[in-house]
Amino acid sequence: MLKIEHIGIAIKELSASVPLFEQLLNTPCYKTESVASEGVNTAFFQTGEAKIELLEASREDSPIAKFIVKKGEGIHHIAFEVENIEAEMKRLSALGFELLNDTPKNGADNKLVCFLHPKTTNGVLIELCQEKK
Ligand code: ZN
Repeated sequence: MLKIEHIGIAIKELSASVPLFEQLLNTPCYKTESVASEGVNTAFFQTGEAKIELLEASREDSPIAKFIVKKGEGIHHIAFEVENIEAEMKRLSALGFELLNDTPKNGADNKLVCFLHPKTTNGVLIELCQEKK
C-alpha cells in the first residue's frame, strides 16, 4: 500500500461540519461531491499528503446513517492508496480478508474503491483506493 490516502469521518450535517473542519484544519474544503450509489455526500480537505473526507448520509438507508445510529459521529474508515486495486484485492482475499465488494466500484474523488469488512481487520473499516487513469 502506498500511503494513507484519507480518513473518512461520519458526520450528521455537512453544513455544520464543513465550517468546523475549516476552522480546525485552517484550510478550506476544496471539493464536495455526492455519490448516489453509496448514499453519501462528501467534503474533502487536504492536510499534508493525506485528506480528510467528511461523510453525510444522503438518504435514510445510507450506510452512513446506519453507522451514526449505531456508533454516533466519528471515524468511519481509513483509506489506503494502492497501485493496482485488483491485484491488492486478490492478495488480501487470498489471505482471508473479507472484501465487501467483489469488483472495484466507483468512489468519490475519481477513485476506484473496495472496502474490507471490519470483522477481519480488528474492527476498522478499511478502504482501498486507486486513482482512475
Ligand atoms: Zn473514503
